[in-house]
Amino acid sequence: MDSSTSPLVGLLVLIVIFVVGPLTGAAARRKGLGFATWWVGGVVLFPIAQIYVFVFAKSYEAGIEQAYGRECPYCAERIKPKAVVCRFCGRDIGSDRRFAPNA
Ligand SMILES: [Zn+2]
Repeated sequence: MDSSTSPLVGLLVLIVIFVVGPLTGAAARRKGLGFATWWVGGVVLFPIAQIYVFVFAKSYEAGIEQAYGRECPYCAERIKPKAVVCRFCGRDIGSDRRFAPNA
C-alpha cells in the first residue's frame, strides 16, 4: 500500500519526466512558448500543464492569426486570412485555408 516505494509509481514518474515533459515542451515550443519551461512545467503540473499547453496554445495561435493574418506556407509572410494568393510571393494558397472562416 506504500505508493512511494512501488516500482509502478516510479516508472510512471520516469515516463512523465522523460517522455511527457519533453513532448509538452516540444508542443509548447511549436506554439511560441519556452521548451525548457514547459518541460519542467509539464512534469510539475502534470496533467494540468498538458491541457493548458494544448488548449491555450491553440487559441493563442488563432489569436495571432486573427490579429496579424495567417502565415504563407511558402514565404512565411503574414497575409490576410481570406487571401487565396500571397501578396508577397504570388503563390496560390487557396487550397491551404485551414484557418479561414467558412464564407
Ligand atoms: Zn508567400
